[in-house]
Amino acid sequence: MANKVLVTGGLGYIGSHTVVELMNQGYEPLIIDNLSNSDISILERIEKITGKRPEFQQVEMRDKEQLQEVFWSNNNQIVGVIHFAAVLLVGESVEQPLHYYYNNLTSTINLLECMNEFDVKPIVFSSSCTVYGNPDQLPVSEDAPIKPAISPYGNTKKVCEDILKDSSIAHPIKVVSLRYFNPIGAHESSLIGEFQSGPPHHLVPFITETATGKREKLNIFGGDWNTSDGTCVRDYIHVSDVAEAHINAMEYAIKQSDNSFKVFNIGSGDGYSVLEMVKSFEKTTGMKVPYEIVDRRPGDVEAVYADTTKATQEIGFKTKRNLDEMLKSAWDWEQALAKE
Ligand code: UDP
Repeated sequence: MANKVLVTGGLGYIGSHTVVELMNQGYEPLIIDNLSNSDISILERIEKITGKRPEFQQVEMRDKEQLQEVFWSNNNQIVGVIHFAAVLLVGESVEQPLHYYYNNLTSTINLLECMNEFDVKPIVFSSSCTVYGNPDQLPVSEDAPIKPAISPYGNTKKVCEDILKDSSIAHPIKVVSLRYFNPIGAHESSLIGEFQSGPPHHLVPFITETATGKREKLNIFGGDWNTSDGTCVRDYIHVSDVAEAHINAMEYAIKQSDNSFKVFNIGSGDGYSVLEMVKSFEKTTGMKVPYEIVDRRPGDVEAVYADTTKATQEIGFKTKRNLDEMLKSAWDWEQALAKE
């Protein structure tokens, strides 16, 4: 029986963890990636974890012919698609909006056209809680209003969801869009995690690099938000829990009998402030993280955390790893990287 899952961007941070999880659960991932923000060596790391090298092709999804070739050479073997491939830096997207729109939209459209052409129906899409902006109600549920995006990157997520939704009305595709909150941490083997080139863009890698002494201090963006300690609140979730959610989502999409478009929040359901994250990290690892409270970062939202009831009820999503495990795995990964 065919059990190939096409994973676009499968060598990236969440993609690589999902590939491991697919293999653990007996699927055969077929990774395509243009290596723009990843490295071929990740294949070897996945092989070390799973004992098997996943199939990989370097493909530029903006070139539809390259993508068609993948579908053609795997005709009738692909049971579904998980679509991670995207450019994803908020700041860069403000400087290069055309690159962001062109890349993220063209890849998604080409993928959907190939799925139609080769009769592949289930697709799980990587979306983001960024579509909620600063929500009016917390925890935020999937039916909360979509807010105008603060960055071109955030807008590509919203527009891709629109494209998927409209396509699911006109074409026989079965879409599950997962709106991730803040994935952090690394695989328990410390063989894969979030690779950084240059200074980190996200909080937790900045905390771990500060703890090693690589950075002098953490700048906390704003101490005057309307939260319990004045710093922003987010919903952090272990990347392996996010990875596992994709298998639930894929199996759910496969089971749908008709065209469909479903959206699920993927978070832990708990909100932690930046200061709480620093304190928890210090407590879990015994390391010190010097910090300074500086000006707010443009575009930040004050507080966001997920209502995950729908994902729990409909796709059986559950987190298995708590905040300590998230932070410990992030720290183990940082130390493993330092030894390489
Ligand atoms: N943050 C911070 N210092 C940093 C990086 C992030 O204070 O060096 C804060 C940021 O303002 C936000 C939270 O940490 O409140 C999470 O930021 P991140 O960029 O990791 O994720 P976001 O939710 O913004 O996508």
